[in-house]
Amino acid sequence: MKAPDFDYLRPASLAAAVAMLVEYDGEAMPLAGGQSLMPMMNFRMAAPEALIDLVNLSELRGIWVESDTIRIGAMTSYADLKGDAAVQKHIPLFSLALPHIAHDAIRNRGTIGGSLALADPAAEMPALMLALNANIEVEGPDGARMLSADDFFLGMFETALDGELIKAIHIPVAKSEQRFGFHELTQRHGDYALAGVAIVQTSNTYRAAFFGVADRATRVPKLEAALEQNEDITSVLAHLNSVDFTDDIKANHTTRQRLAGVALKRALKGMTT
Ligand SMILES: Cc1cc2nc3c(=O)[nH]c(=O)nc-3n(C[C@H](O)[C@H](O)[C@H](O)COP(=O)(O)OP(=O)(O)OC[C@H]3O[C@@H](n4cnc5c(N)ncnc54)[C@H](O)[C@@H]3O)c2cc1C
Repeated sequence: MKAPDFDYLRPASLAAAVAMLVEYDGEAMPLAGGQSLMPMMNFRMAAPEALIDLVNLSELRGIWVESDTIRIGAMTSYADLKGDAAVQKHIPLFSLALPHIAHDAIRNRGTIGGSLALADPAAEMPALMLALNANIEVEGPDGARMLSADDFFLGMFETALDGELIKAIHIPVAKSEQRFGFHELTQRHGDYALAGVAIVQTSNTYRAAFFGVADRATRVPKLEAALEQNEDITSVLAHLNSVDFTDDIKANHTTRQRLAGVALKRALKGMTT
């Protein structure tokens, strides 16, 4: 199938893009890499009146290290992230996770902002943002605001965006006392995860975010506390019982819980600086 007709707009500035969103009153959608939105339109799962192409918005581009934070423009592609020396040095978790996101063709075009705005529960980036304690800078008709990743993901394909665009992502740079872990289980390499987890350990505190298991990327506070208290792995895994695991054609909730436990054990085993 082909996408239904739509207006195509290519604003030259962030302000112009926000004005267009207002003008279309919720009937326009931003277009980033198009790797999810175009298939959704072709399958008629989305039918916006207009696409607002973000390609020319310089405000959404670039990677800067700002003292203890790295700021990544929303239009940064996965390939740009992989090739960036500052990202490699300051966010080691990205190097562990990026090879698992789809395939080269998709990584060349798909953007970090598009992934976060989409909020696919099986995507890697939302979980990374939770584990890394990232902040998401957004801008809309009422101005700019900063949202913590913990407050950003509200449900399946649902975020706290309110007619706004993601402008940039702010991630604390890695500290010497931190260790990072990542593992995901898929049917084939590059597929969306059946279950996965991203972990950041800072001294004896943990942030562990699961993906592919529930309606959104999910931290399990009691599980993190159990890791902090150095409980045995059986007690740690018991806290997964509090997650509302997804049942779907690929795996039922019992299988997903088992896979989440396997992913956690492997990620903990492979923790690296
Ligand atoms: C075969 C295939 C396999 C894939 N496998 C994986 C995978 O394993 N893991 C994974 O995470 N992803 C996977 N993806 C999805 C891919 O990562 C997408 O690129 C990503 O989810 C969306 O990024 P995008 O830049 O293409 O966004 P688009 O498709 O352009 O947009 C996605 C959504 O975000 C909105 N949006 C985009 N940018 C902004 C912004 N700055 N502000 C506000 N809203 C915005 C759009 O309006 C749209 O609703 C796969 C895709 C395909 C086709």
